[in-house]
Amino acid sequence: MQRTLSILKPDVTRRNLTGAVNERIEKSDLRIIAQKRIQLSLEQAQKFYAVHRERAFFNDLCDFMVTGPVVVQVLEGNNAVDNYRTVMGATNPANAEEGTIRRDFAESIEANSVHGSDSAENAAIEISFFFSEMEIVG
Ligand code: GDP
Repeated sequence: MQRTLSILKPDVTRRNLTGAVNERIEKSDLRIIAQKRIQLSLEQAQKFYAVHRERAFFNDLCDFMVTGPVVVQVLEGNNAVDNYRTVMGATNPANAEEGTIRRDFAESIEANSVHGSDSAENAAIEISFFFSEMEIVG
């Protein structure tokens, strides 16, 4: 069993697609063991994406992430980190496989509907950014 941190981005909440994306998650052998809808501050978005601060898209990405509420989640399952990356699809929806969340829902490379941790180590860091152990019910 492994855990990963998922974020449904503001393009999902704006279009009322939270349930549609959650259906994809739950059909993929991943359990949503913690979930909350929050409005990120710009400071929180910049802190969360700090690894990308040198990238050209950093400011645009952080600005986008505060345009509306996000749903942050802890997902649990076998091989959850890699499984969820597969279910999400490629960063650029134009390159994402058929049937993936990003292929079917993303608006652009920036407004690409979902975030998923890229390693088990980062998952632990990202989960503790948003959740206390008490809020996670496996
Ligand atoms: P991920 O792990 O697939 O989410 O991709 P990255 O870690 O490389 O990028 C983080 C997030 O930054 C992506 O999910 C996109 O929302 C955004 N992003 C990535 N590349 C670009 C880009 O070239 N332009 C813009 N505007 N945003 C990008």
